[in-house]
Amino acid sequence: MMRQYELVDRVKRYNPNADEELLDRAYVYAMKAHGTQKRASGDLFFAHPLEVAAILTDMRLDDATIVAAVLHDTVEDTSATIEEITNLFGAEIARLVDGLTKLKKLDFVSKKATQGENFRKLLLAVAADVRVLLVKLADRLHNMRTLDHMRSDKRVRIAEETVEIYAPLAGRMGMQEIREELEELAFRHIKPEAHALISAKLAAFVDRSNALIAEIEEELGARFAERGILASVKGRAKRPYSVWRKMERKSVSFEQLSDIFGFRVIVPSLEDCYRVLGVIHTTWAMVPGRYKDYISTPKQNDYRSIHTTVVGPGHQRVELQIRTETMDRVAEYGVAAHAIYKDGRTISAKEMTDSSAYQWLRRTVESLAESANPEEFLEHTKLELFHDQVFCFSPKGLLIALPRGATPIDFAYAVHTDVGNSAVGCKINGRNAPLLTELQNGDEVEIVRSNGQVPPAAWESLVVTGKARAAIRRATRAAVRRQYAGLGRQILDRAFERSGRPFSDDKLKAALGRLARSSVEDVLASVGRGEMFSGDVVRAVYPDLETAEKRPTPEGAKGPGWFDLKRGENLKFKLPNAEESNAIPIAGLGSDLAVRFAPEGGAVPGDRIVGIMSPGEGVTIYPIQSPALAAFDNEPERWLDVRWDLEDKRKRRFPARISLQSINEPGTLAQITTVIAEHDGNIDAVKMDRPNSDFTDMTVDLTVWDLKHLNAIISELRQKPVVSAVERIVA
Ligand code: MN
Repeated sequence: MMRQYELVDRVKRYNPNADEELLDRAYVYAMKAHGTQKRASGDLFFAHPLEVAAILTDMRLDDATIVAAVLHDTVEDTSATIEEITNLFGAEIARLVDGLTKLKKLDFVSKKATQGENFRKLLLAVAADVRVLLVKLADRLHNMRTLDHMRSDKRVRIAEETVEIYAPLAGRMGMQEIREELEELAFRHIKPEAHALISAKLAAFVDRSNALIAEIEEELGARFAERGILASVKGRAKRPYSVWRKMERKSVSFEQLSDIFGFRVIVPSLEDCYRVLGVIHTTWAMVPGRYKDYISTPKQNDYRSIHTTVVGPGHQRVELQIRTETMDRVAEYGVAAHAIYKDGRTISAKEMTDSSAYQWLRRTVESLAESANPEEFLEHTKLELFHDQVFCFSPKGLLIALPRGATPIDFAYAVHTDVGNSAVGCKINGRNAPLLTELQNGDEVEIVRSNGQVPPAAWESLVVTGKARAAIRRATRAAVRRQYAGLGRQILDRAFERSGRPFSDDKLKAALGRLARSSVEDVLASVGRGEMFSGDVVRAVYPDLETAEKRPTPEGAKGPGWFDLKRGENLKFKLPNAEESNAIPIAGLGSDLAVRFAPEGGAVPGDRIVGIMSPGEGVTIYPIQSPALAAFDNEPERWLDVRWDLEDKRKRRFPARISLQSINEPGTLAQITTVIAEHDGNIDAVKMDRPNSDFTDMTVDLTVWDLKHLNAIISELRQKPVVSAVERIVA
């Protein structure tokens, strides 16, 4: 295990001004926190954070990152808290450790297709500071290096996750070295046979080719020296994973591969890159289609290099990458290669923001978000998406993406409709919280449930996900239906009592066919809603019963003036007369319910409304200011909370009533009706009363689209000089 002084030495090698005392303190703190904890290998756990820190010293990262690496598992795995770390190490380090703690929860996320996508988004959403990702990658790298000690099923899962998530992430951040090592380690566990086979062939090939590689290195070096170019030439064989990928992609055997090794030419300056290219292309024949200039057009992740392939010495195809030392560092370490130091000191936040490295980081994160290539991250998503979403966990580690502004109620419904319907409270990150709390990224949400609970209809307007809204509406509708069924049962109890015959569910069940209903509850609800008469049910159960009087039922089984509209059905009925009201579906009651409006001066959309239930009749809708409601003040059980179904796309008119006082003048009525007609209002009836010779009182029944429409007509009427007063009348 790395000693305290070794860690400090490693940092001081590239950063002489490193805060030795801080590093020492972190070392001691983490060592005490992890205590005697062991890893699967049997080693002390503390060796792991130290190795992670060591990987990051290779990338020459700043003190805060190194300290965060040393501390990265303390909050999740030991009794250490973020508060304590904030006090001891400051806010910056605490923020990094907090990000790592949140990311750690991902390790327990179950492997599902949708989870992978969420996972990637979370990585980016949580890791606002790229250093969190760097530590996370180093953490994964060390875990992969020590994967052999894990159970085999776990090994494969972790290896797959590494190939799908972490290796591409390292690649996108420009860290080729880490990417290749991660892929290599994962390949060994996912395809052990393929890995063994290719490794063996590769080793044999390298053995055979050693002389050739040395020859080519020498030949190239000599040509460059002739032109006075100081270049270092290094040949290397591809790694098993990239060989295997190539074999898969091109469906070829190992023997058919022509470019198993490549050469890297490192030169002092940018100009030298092109001079080297000139030497190569004038000496050997270039292979068409293989030349790429990533110096003049760098890759998204700032990778810069010239690629070309030539038919080189001994008619061997030789693949070459030409670049400067700086470019080479970026190619290997990507984001980590960018100057985080200036003259031996860590740069300030301001310098960081202004630096090209930081700009590059921003671009990288954006490209992570915008890339359309399925091989790359976050297909079909835009950066804005992260700002629109929050990612939360269930206590079991299920990761759930929700729109920003989502509440624990949305979370509950996202887990399962039953969880939503039975939610009565919640804990966020272990603490009791209101169900209406706005969720934050990384929150762990535990829903407290209680059976026999009906989601309050008011939730519908408070949730942000369509799934939750639809489920709440369904549950409310089911609850209303149960209410109606209860009502229907009371009505039937009385009706059977009057008839002198016994009533039971079994007897009703036997009569379902005659009633053309599929269930007892259906019959009960129909009676409660007033769609079916109790007398008809009694006669269906006891067909021998004398029918004293049959009530007229002009609309099938429904009472006069009742219409039962199904969603999508046309409004083709004709009103029997002006006093009859319409039936419309209203959200919360559902589309299969008959609802009527107060007969005169009813509610129009936009009004605050309330429903009054009447046994055997259903629900009548009143505007909240209606004087008629006073009659029901002592019967709170009949009041029903209803609201407009704003999602209903079928536009229709609603009856309203206004009263006007106008000056007696020729043409007054015409002026008033013109205003209404010009504003798209339909006049149903006009009643005139002349209290004296100067004024006329009018009551106008009209139909309008909604409250706004009605108010527009009223205010237009008020503008007319002939009109002295206008008022809306509600029954
Ligand atoms: Mn770790």
